[in-house]
Amino acid sequence: MYKAIKQAQTIVEDFISLIYPRLCLACMQDAPMPREHMCLACQLDLPYTDLHHHQENTFTDRLWGRFPLHTAAAQLLMIKGGLAENIIYNIKYRGAIDLAKSLGRSYGRQLAKSPLYQDIDIIVPVPIHKSKLKTRGYNQSAIYGQGLSKTMKIPMFENAIRKLHKTSSQTRKTRMERLSNVESQYAISQKEKIKGKHVLLVDDVMTTGATLEACALEILKVEGTRVSVVTVAMKNY
Ligand SMILES: [Zn+2]
Repeated sequence: MYKAIKQAQTIVEDFISLIYPRLCLACMQDAPMPREHMCLACQLDLPYTDLHHHQENTFTDRLWGRFPLHTAAAQLLMIKGGLAENIIYNIKYRGAIDLAKSLGRSYGRQLAKSPLYQDIDIIVPVPIHKSKLKTRGYNQSAIYGQGLSKTMKIPMFENAIRKLHKTSSQTRKTRMERLSNVESQYAISQKEKIKGKHVLLVDDVMTTGATLEACALEILKVEGTRVSVVTVAMKNY
């Protein structure tokens, strides 16, 4: 019965995409194959990194000296006007949940093979504030984390970190004010669940690393924790 419904749903979806062609979520121009998120050209052209093969790399360099970090990697390199920029936008603001999950699954398969990610105990996504969660309907980092969790076969603790209050406008603040503003915004719930664990902190984009730093510092206050970081993309500008 379930199979019949699923088949009917697929037929309807294929029919709808004939009338309203879906666009590739990376180039936003060509049409992807049915049940794919990206066109073939983009699938082949995605700017994948090899950061997960190196314990120290351009990602860890950017966080150097800010908190004790085991290792860090991003799946994609984000350049201005490039494919990763569209992908992140679609994941963050346009509900491309399946794409986020599928990217997570595919990177999880690679991380599972890397010796650097063998002793991760738990996956923890960077949270968004609950009012934002209400309007957006999902936390993109947690969706990506679900994909990682599936293929790495490591559990995710989605609500390990809480965002305490909404980020006030950052633009008129000095760098020091901005840092302290971010630092006070996160708290760990159920500390005993991450005690003694190697936590894989997951976010959508690595830019300055301020959010990752603030979350990692909270995690590291819990006894015996270690932190590694994975993001969907790393900004290269
Ligand atoms: Zn494309």
